Amino acid sequence: MFQPYAVCLDMRYYSGPMATPDRQDMPPPIPVITLDGPAGSGKGTIAALLAERLGWWLLDSGAIYRVAALAALHRQLVLDDEQALAALLESLQIRFEQGRAFCNGEEVTAAIRTPACSDATSRISALPAVRRGLLALQRSFRQAPGLVADGRDMGTVVFPDAGLKVFLTASPEVRAQRRLKQLSEQGIGANLSGLVQDMRARDERDANRAIAPLRPAADAVIINSDTLAPEQVLELILSRQREV
Ligand code: C5P
Repeated sequence: MFQPYAVCLDMRYYSGPMATPDRQDMPPPIPVITLDGPAGSGKGTIAALLAERLGWWLLDSGAIYRVAALAALHRQLVLDDEQALAALLESLQIRFEQGRAFCNGEEVTAAIRTPACSDATSRISALPAVRRGLLALQRSFRQAPGLVADGRDMGTVVFPDAGLKVFLTASPEVRAQRRLKQLSEQGIGANLSGLVQDMRARDERDANRAIAPLRPAADAVIINSDTLAPEQVLELILSRQREV
């Protein structure tokens, strides 16, 4: 089981350059591990395991974008109308509780995972006003003793000062298989070839958008999870974290 206090005593913050006299009074930054990568790369599973193991908070940034997209669909907004979407974001109260998602008090946990919502999410998340509008909310998850942040631009934009940045990849076929399994566990029907196509379209949009495109941070550790079990990926990340 996890030992939260072992993690709080991360010696990185109590020795070396941080201990010079003029910086002594500065509180140590709250540690962050970022986990970026394409849909179905296993980030969600790994991020949850990692947060549990470390006793840290978890940010599923994709869920935030998904809640915003669902609200846009419900209000029948045009999905590239930046002004309307920015106004919408201001009216939303997005909250997570034990893996469940809420929007203005209404539970949306299952509704944000449908393929239609995934597609709408990748459309609205390409818009600068939407990314700007959700930045502060994402950063507010950085709370002691630490944060595991799962997304596309966690290491490049949202937490550029993170102590450890991981970029997780896998082939589109493996990722589609995983997503199919995940959806069927949630009782949502889908077919494999449709999912592979959907993954490719989303990857293309996420990687080629002008703002915060999906790409590894220059200082990220890149892990391909095609042939690795979640526990193996987790151990790789934990061993890197011990070196930080
Ligand atoms: O991670 P997940 O698959 O739930 O994310 C859904 C969509 O949200 C992604 O395809 C991407 O378009 C968008 N997203 C993003 N930036 C993030 C997280 C998710 O643009 N940090």
